Amino acid sequence: MALERTFSIIKPDATRRNLTGAINATIEKAGLRIVAQKRILLTRAQAETFYGVHKERPFFGELVDFMISEPIVVQVLEGEDAVAKYREVMGATNPANAAEGTIRKEFALSVGENSAHGSDSLENAQIEIAQFFAGNEIVG
Ligand code: UDP
Repeated sequence: MALERTFSIIKPDATRRNLTGAINATIEKAGLRIVAQKRILLTRAQAETFYGVHKERPFFGELVDFMISEPIVVQVLEGEDAVAKYREVMGATNPANAAEGTIRKEFALSVGENSAHGSDSLENAQIEIAQFFAGNEIVG
């Protein structure tokens, strides 16, 4: 086990429904520590860069429109095996396939409006954290 940091987003469908606290409680109960957090409105350019890997996918335009539709909360989460652990805590991309007790099972509305993002690898976590946080904004 290694102490890791991962990048998380509480997505617009969740901020809109006042679920930031409920999602943070799930994160903290799972043993992950929120070591940086801010509420922001993404620009279209930021959203397109963040999801650039999906730019050829049919859902890309809708995903970008959704991600800039309302504020999001960006976070850095720290803990043992934080990258894999947060993927577990979030649950499957499609809430219909997400396990009981996961954020997406509890809160997601659809495969697109699925309440949470979590980095899929340690390498991507570092890239994504650097897109939103300066080093001195992360206090472990
Ligand atoms: N997404 C979507 N339709 C799909 C697949 C994905 O709208 O058919 C959105 C959804 O919000 C998802 C994001 O694109 O969270 C990124 O997709 P990815 O496959 O990377 O899933 P994740 O890592 O978020 O579980």
